[in-house]
Amino acid sequence: MAIPSQTIEQIAAANDIVEVIGSYFPLKRAGANFKALCPFHQEKTPSFTVSPQRQTFHCFGCGVGGSVFRFVMDYEHVDFPSAVRKLAARVGITLIEERGPSGAEDRQHEARRTLLQLQGEAAAWFHENLIRKEFAEPARKYLKERGITAEIAKRWRLGYAPDEWDAFGSWARARGYDQQTLIASGLVKTKEDADGVPGQRSYDRFRGRIMFPICNDVGEVIAFSGRLLKDENGAAKYLNSPETPLFRKGNVLFGLDKTKRALIEANCAIVCEGQLDLISLFEAGITNVVAPQGTAFTESQARVLKRFADEVVLCFDADTAGQKAAERSLDALLANGLIVRVSEMPTGEDPDSLVRREGKEAFESRVAGARDFFDYWIEHAAAGVDLTSLGAKMRLARSLAETVSRVHDPLMRGEVVSKVSARLGVPAQDFQALLPKQARSSALRADEFHNGGTAPAPR
Ligand SMILES: [Zn+2]
Repeated sequence: MAIPSQTIEQIAAANDIVEVIGSYFPLKRAGANFKALCPFHQEKTPSFTVSPQRQTFHCFGCGVGGSVFRFVMDYEHVDFPSAVRKLAARVGITLIEERGPSGAEDRQHEARRTLLQLQGEAAAWFHENLIRKEFAEPARKYLKERGITAEIAKRWRLGYAPDEWDAFGSWARARGYDQQTLIASGLVKTKEDADGVPGQRSYDRFRGRIMFPICNDVGEVIAFSGRLLKDENGAAKYLNSPETPLFRKGNVLFGLDKTKRALIEANCAIVCEGQLDLISLFEAGITNVVAPQGTAFTESQARVLKRFADEVVLCFDADTAGQKAAERSLDALLANGLIVRVSEMPTGEDPDSLVRREGKEAFESRVAGARDFFDYWIEHAAAGVDLTSLGAKMRLARSLAETVSRVHDPLMRGEVVSKVSARLGVPAQDFQALLPKQARSSALRADEFHNGGTAPAPR
C-alpha cells in the first residue's frame, strides 16, 4: 500500500517546515533562516538551521538534514509512511493509499484501519463517560484522590467503562460497527466464554473500569488497560485488551508516544509498573518514563527501549514481589546492552504516591542515587549467607555466575565479574571459571582490557 507521490508532494506543500519544527520547539529568526539548538546532538550555540525558502533543515554541527518528512522521522523515531500519515493528519489531508497487488492485503489494511478508528472512537466514548456521566462519579472521585485533574484525564484520554453488560457494545453497533469488528477489537467478547450470561449474544470486556488507552508510538489508540473501580473477589484489578491485529502486548510500552523525546534527551528511562505511576511522574515533570504494562520486560520491549536510551532505572517495591518482577525483566534488558540501575521504593510506596508526597526534586534525587543493579543484587543475594562457610559461599557464587553470564556486553561483564569476586572474596579467575564457557572467555578478554593488558587478538 504505497502512498501516491502526488499526495506526498501535496502533504509537503501544506506543511510549512518552519511551522512544523516550530511546533516541537521554538525557532529564532536569523536573517532569511531560522535557528535553534540542535535536538539531535548536544550543543551550546545553535547550529540547527531551517530554511523556509528551501523547506529544509540542516545542522552544521552533526550533519543531519533534509525535508519536513525527514525531520519528523528523525525526531519522532518513526518510519517514512508514519511521518507522511502524521503530517497528512496535521493539515487534514485524507490519505488514499494506493492499492497493493493483492486484494487480501488490501482487505487486511482496510480491516486494520477500521479497528484503529473503533479504538479511537471508543477512547473518546469512555472519556466522555468519565467527564460527563453521573454513573462515573465514583471514578472521578477515585482519580481526584490520586491527583488526576480533569485536564490530566483529558491529556491521557482516560475514561470510564460503565458497569453494564452491553453499554459499549450497543453504542458501537449503533455507530455502525459490525459484530465481527467488535470482537476483533477485543472490546467485546462472545457469549461462549461469558459463563452463561442469559440472553446476551456478546458482552463488554471492560465493565466498571477506569480506562487507560494504550497508544502506538505515533499516539493512535490501539488497546486499553482497565482498572477495576470496586475491588471484587476473583476479578483482576487490571485487565488489558487481548492481542489483536493492532496490539501485540509484548511490543508496546505504555506512554512511549509521549515520553520518547525525554528518553532520548535523558538517555535514561525510568521504569515503573503501573499506568498511574507513569502518569503521575510525567505530570510532576519527570517525563523520561515508561511502563511495560504491569508485566516484566519482554525482549522486544527492551529492543524498542534501547532505540531511545542506554540506561534504565527500575523503580519497584522493596518487597519480594517487586524484586521478582525486576529480576524477570533483567534478562531482556541485559541482553540488549542496557545499563540497569535500581531505585527501591520505601515500603508501602510506589512512584505515584512518592512523587505526590515528596515532589519532583526528591524523586529525581532518588533516581540519581539509584544503585547499579549488580551492587544492589550482590548485596541482596549475599545477605544472610555466611561467607566464612565454603559450601555456602560456593552455592552463592554459582547462582551469581548464572546471572552474570546473562550480561552480553563483554566490557560490562568484566566489570561485574570484578565486583562480584571482590564482594565474595574470591580471585576473579576462580569466579570466571564458574561462568558458562562462552561468557567466560569474553569476560577474560574484557578483564585484560580493563587492566590495560593486551588487546584481544583479531579473529
Ligand atoms: Zn546537530
